[in-house]
Amino acid sequence: MKKIQMVDLQSQYSKIKDVVNPSIQEILESAAFINGPKVHEFQKNLEDYLGVKHVIPCANGTDALQIAMMGLGLKPGDEVITADFTFAATVEVIALLQLTPVLVDVDPVTFNIDTEAIKKAITHKTKAIVPVHLFGLAANMEEILEVAKAHNLYVIEDNAQGIGANYTYKDGSKVKTGVIGDVASTSFFPSKNLGCYGDGGAIFTNDDDLAHTIRGIVNHGMYKRYHHDVVGVNSRLDSIQAAVLDAKLPHLDEYNRTRRNTARKYNEALKNHPNITVPSGKTECEGICSSCDCHVFHQYTLNLKGIDRDGLVAHLNNNGIPCGVYYPIPLHLQKAYADERYNEEDFAVTNDLVKNVISLPMHTELDDEQIELITTTVLNFINNSK
Ligand SMILES: *Cc1c(COP(=O)(O)O)cnc(C)c1O
Repeated sequence: MKKIQMVDLQSQYSKIKDVVNPSIQEILESAAFINGPKVHEFQKNLEDYLGVKHVIPCANGTDALQIAMMGLGLKPGDEVITADFTFAATVEVIALLQLTPVLVDVDPVTFNIDTEAIKKAITHKTKAIVPVHLFGLAANMEEILEVAKAHNLYVIEDNAQGIGANYTYKDGSKVKTGVIGDVASTSFFPSKNLGCYGDGGAIFTNDDDLAHTIRGIVNHGMYKRYHHDVVGVNSRLDSIQAAVLDAKLPHLDEYNRTRRNTARKYNEALKNHPNITVPSGKTECEGICSSCDCHVFHQYTLNLKGIDRDGLVAHLNNNGIPCGVYYPIPLHLQKAYADERYNEEDFAVTNDLVKNVISLPMHTELDDEQIELITTTVLNFINNSK
């Protein structure tokens, strides 16, 4: 059996190297390393795939979030509501821009930001909500948009883990995550569902004016050469990364289907165990489904009950199976983001999840033998530890 990895990028690469290698070679020959035609080509292809008017490539997913917030003109002191249970980048950029992060609890079933908690956290200073499509499952966008509209707030989707996922409105119309709010960010970090071979990211929006503003911000605040109208940043996707992404984009739906298939197999083996809750979200659909929860399984995350999680991690590792704990500490308890305003009782779900979640290997290259070994090793530990 092939060694099980948390993410297996080598095997994926070996299947597409006939396309990737010549495309990278072409960049080397042309020497158009920055802002070359490949970046524009990929941008257009991603716009078509997502059904969004503007994709603005940038250097990474963290920059993408920061630039989205700069583009919206958020000012120091503005409050921005986001989830307590996510990767730190989301809250980091809020704090960096001297905006006030307001962390709120998540839903125990979807692990996504809880709409009731958002409503409770809104004040006259609130300017934006940042839902994260955590682990590849769309947040409850319709409810979030309703709250945002009622309070005149921006919605910035952190789509770093959700690229390719669908969201279906109550009326049946479907969209990709990342084109629902005012603006969205994504990451092309190698292990993301659409990853390059270095750092990369992008901002999406349907708003022409905002897209124009953001195109200047990513390029030192320049709208005309050497005229700097606003304070910007330097954040670019380089041509080599664009070449990799353009080679992988046609495979994204197939990659996400493979992930859903793996999740379905994990679910079948684990879902009936009383101490395990498998992820919510559909695994059957082929790309576009008729209910909103078309999960793209950036992570496959179990919620354990009454099980020694650290013991399970050690048991898996001892059997050559990697696993992850995303995320082990709530953001409101991280030194950098702790704040006296927070009350522990407002974070009951996150406080519980950080102790009980475990993510199993998830990527496009897992075979049935590996999946079977992973699930039987999990079940062996749980059944023997009682
Ligand atoms: C990966 C990730 C980011 C940051 O992306 P980088 O490209 O690593 O900067 C932001 N938010 C979430 C939820 C992520 O998973």
